[in-house]
Amino acid sequence: MSALTDLFREARSSAANLAEVFARGRGLRLGVTGLSRAGKTVFITALAQQLTTLAHAAAEGRKNPLPVFRLAAEGRLIAGRLEPQPDDHVARFAFEDHVAALTGPDRLWPQSTRQISELRLLLDFQRRDGFRPGPGRFVIDIVDYPGEWLLDLPLLEKSYSVWSRETFEASAAAARAPLAADWRGFSAGLDPKAPADEAIARKAAELFTAYLRAARSDAFALSTLPPGRFLMPGDLEGSPALTFAPLPPGDGDEPAPGSLAAMMERRYEAYKAHVVKPFFRDHFARLDRQIVLVDALAALNSGPAALRDLQHALNDVLAAFRIGRGNALTKLFRPKIDKILIAATKADHLHHLSHDRLEAILRQLTARAISRSEFSGAAVDVIALAAVRATREAAVRRGRETIDAIIGTPLKGETLDGQIFDGETEAAIFPGQLPADPREAFRGDALAQAEDESDYRFLRFRPPIPVFGTDGKPLPAPHIRLDRACQFLFGDRLS
Ligand code: GDP
Repeated sequence: MSALTDLFREARSSAANLAEVFARGRGLRLGVTGLSRAGKTVFITALAQQLTTLAHAAAEGRKNPLPVFRLAAEGRLIAGRLEPQPDDHVARFAFEDHVAALTGPDRLWPQSTRQISELRLLLDFQRRDGFRPGPGRFVIDIVDYPGEWLLDLPLLEKSYSVWSRETFEASAAAARAPLAADWRGFSAGLDPKAPADEAIARKAAELFTAYLRAARSDAFALSTLPPGRFLMPGDLEGSPALTFAPLPPGDGDEPAPGSLAAMMERRYEAYKAHVVKPFFRDHFARLDRQIVLVDALAALNSGPAALRDLQHALNDVLAAFRIGRGNALTKLFRPKIDKILIAATKADHLHHLSHDRLEAILRQLTARAISRSEFSGAAVDVIALAAVRATREAAVRRGRETIDAIIGTPLKGETLDGQIFDGETEAAIFPGQLPADPREAFRGDALAQAEDESDYRFLRFRPPIPVFGTDGKPLPAPHIRLDRACQFLFGDRLS
């Protein structure tokens, strides 16, 4: 497709998006993102379960589970239900499967997000007296997508040679070099001017992907580098669209037709045109509100180096939402989002006394990324939440001391002080206190701190034992601050 037709299509598509916004009126598209394992699947499952069962809570004699969500507090929700989604070409979020996993006899966490999916929620509610009292209807289209994909936005304005150079430079850093050694060694032996060879391209892509994966593994927890699909391929798993890799910086000449460098460059450009642009144009640019989920506790567990690295990763992820950055092309793909919630997930791994401290650490993590001038026009809030609360709290006496503990069933294989948990037994855990001054969490040497040296240690727990309603259907699990998230993300549109 020529560049002109391409641009024309983009312009027409944004006009259609605008028309869609006006036509929709009473609804919004809510993006849910975050890096892999941040908690997107659990969040969407819990949110949809809460909103589709909320209207019956009072009739069933249950306490209002979402007191801070004004629609719930004021008892104005008439019904909440799932509806077929508007985009037939996008996978539906597997809500029923995820609820079944969480509440089935094995109580398993659901399968995490691997690709984009959608879920449409329809709320019938009573408007508040005033401008337009009476019944109203509101549609929330939830769009679940891997945060890794957002890292690809800057590629749109980067040539293959610039991206190659930057990627090679990054891989030489002390923390990355050992992980990148195989790929760098292989690449060093390649002649970019040699004739294109599919086997070599495949091998280079394989080694490059292995390096990106190793950097993101639990052991290293380094931030993710683009291309986002190399780690989260979605439906491109094993596709030739991902068979390219950076080549060592050459002499700056245009690659000769038919050379390895020319093939790599062509594939890189194809990735941008056929993978990156369609995602940003068809999905990202249409979002109205966004929640970005962050697993800060995993990074805290790994030590200050991992936390600082998460800070970089979040910077890169949040850059996609910044207004006024980049050229005309990337601006075209930026959504007109007016509210962004950044949420630290799994707060149930902590005693509530530390929830505010977790928020403070998240604020510190994202401070640079959300400096006000760059997000002008969008309201940003930061919270700590647990969409599903797998623990409860207890004060445990130890001699003369009373310690604030959390009680839950640690996942099979989790260890603490030499004890290995079997996944069946409940335990009272003292996760420790997060530091009062969030900056303290970022200080320390570059190595992951040893378990016994740190002031805190977070275990992963099994989902809570489910409770069933009078109709035999599972009720949503308890949560932490999910109602605050609802109020911020769409409460204002339901008055
Ligand atoms: P995704 O990759 O962003 O979709 O991440 P998931 O939603 O699949 O969450 C990854 C893992 O984090 C889950 O398997 C759970 O172990 C854990 N998790 C996510 N949300 C919660 C939560 O609210 N509470 C607890 N205790 N664990 C959670």
